[in-house]
Amino acid sequence: MIPRLPKGFSHPMTIGEGSFSSVYRVRQKILDRWVAVKILHEKNGQRRQELLNEARNQAQMSISCIPAVYDAFSQGPQVFIVMEWVKGASLLSLLEKGIPKGEDRAALAGSIIAALAGLHKLGFAHRDFKPANILVSPDSSIFLVDFGFSKKVGEGGQSMIGIVKGTPAYMAPEIWQGRANVDFMKADLYALGKVIQELAPGPEWESLIQPLLAIRPEARPATAGEVWDLCRSLGQSRMSHDWKASIGQVSSELLSRRLLQAAKQLLFAKRGEEAYWLLAECLQEDPDAVEALRLLDGFPAISEGKKKKKKRWLVSTAASAAFILALLTAFHFGKRAERESFYPAIDRDVEARLLLLPGKQNGNKSQRAPVRFREFAGAGGRLAGLLFVDGAKGCDSLFLDAQSIPMPVPRGGIPMESGEHSLLCTDSAGTLVYREKLTMLPFQRKLIRLDKKTPKQEA
Ligand code: ADP
Ligand code: MG
Repeated sequence: MIPRLPKGFSHPMTIGEGSFSSVYRVRQKILDRWVAVKILHEKNGQRRQELLNEARNQAQMSISCIPAVYDAFSQGPQVFIVMEWVKGASLLSLLEKGIPKGEDRAALAGSIIAALAGLHKLGFAHRDFKPANILVSPDSSIFLVDFGFSKKVGEGGQSMIGIVKGTPAYMAPEIWQGRANVDFMKADLYALGKVIQELAPGPEWESLIQPLLAIRPEARPATAGEVWDLCRSLGQSRMSHDWKASIGQVSSELLSRRLLQAAKQLLFAKRGEEAYWLLAECLQEDPDAVEALRLLDGFPAISEGKKKKKKRWLVSTAASAAFILALLTAFHFGKRAERESFYPAIDRDVEARLLLLPGKQNGNKSQRAPVRFREFAGAGGRLAGLLFVDGAKGCDSLFLDAQSIPMPVPRGGIPMESGEHSLLCTDSAGTLVYREKLTMLPFQRKLIRLDKKTPKQEA
């Protein structure tokens, strides 16, 4: 389901869904960045204010293993928490995928212990410590999320009256027994023991795991810092290059799947512009995502230039007529034209863009499509566009991002990574003639006509 986002956010993609909340990765337009937004639903106004505690607590936890909170507010029956988006995979999904035995598991266990020790040092107990709430980024950093149950504990880790909260499999016995005066930090240590046990870093770790799983909280180590010291005495392992690559692969697979799913929903809701971006990103994560390529292939090319703009109504009327005809034909001849019927046109009032899309599939699409994409992704492996420069009269040297471009400009265009670029041109005396900032979209085919631009003098 596509969420209703607050003003200023777009491109929603689901990253987590529970019974009380949903988490989306969205674009924060004004700051041009991806953020995570957690949306909690609560009809009761007072409860909504309480839910904001989650954000308040998290905002106080300024350590690198906790996503930074950017904003939190309630709107109607919903509470929004805007925070740093962690690109990675949850420990749960990595465990499901299978983590190779050996050193990497030990290194991962060490980083998880260090993260919990860091949180406890700030005076907070997590209270729902489990693999789904531990994120691993491709550079193997650990992030803890989900502070809905978190509590600031008084100096020295004093105990508090407990209410049963958490996830049964990781819940300390004193919690499910409903005991009063539960020390939540000790309960976190029990959950940590469960997580490390699941990770199974090796037989030598048993001496660390067993005390964590002690039934009596007093028999557990005093603090997470103590566990961290113990862990270091077992010999610190470093994540191998292969393991980092495999985390990267799992998170890319996950991300590309979610991007595709989100793009399909956006297409269905006729939000073509947003879907386009997500599909392009999906291909960036997984160049073999044939379905994303096929969907991108269905987008109409939008022309650039004033003349074409004037004729736009004619083109769109003709396109609509053709589209209706195609639908009627499809209806008549069965499923043949089903594919076309799914593609809404990109909003034609949006800044004119000329998209270079992979060619129509004539042959075996599963063989052709990825190859075409790879050929095109010439610039640094990221999704590339092509820049064409026309009419460079009076221009002696051309520079793109401070790099000289051979003159005359290659006729086949210059492959450029998607993103912001600067183009400037100097005459034979080295005086600046043109200067322009341009944004290249994935697959875009951009034509710059230098002779039509007003020369810009150096300031
Ligand atoms: P819930 O309270 O519903 O369990 P969580 O806060 O645990 O919600 O978020 C659900 C899932 O969303 C997490 O398991 C994690 O995979 C993902 N998630 C949450 N916050 C972030 C974030 N900042 N960056 C990336 N993914 C996140
Ligand atoms: Mg959670």
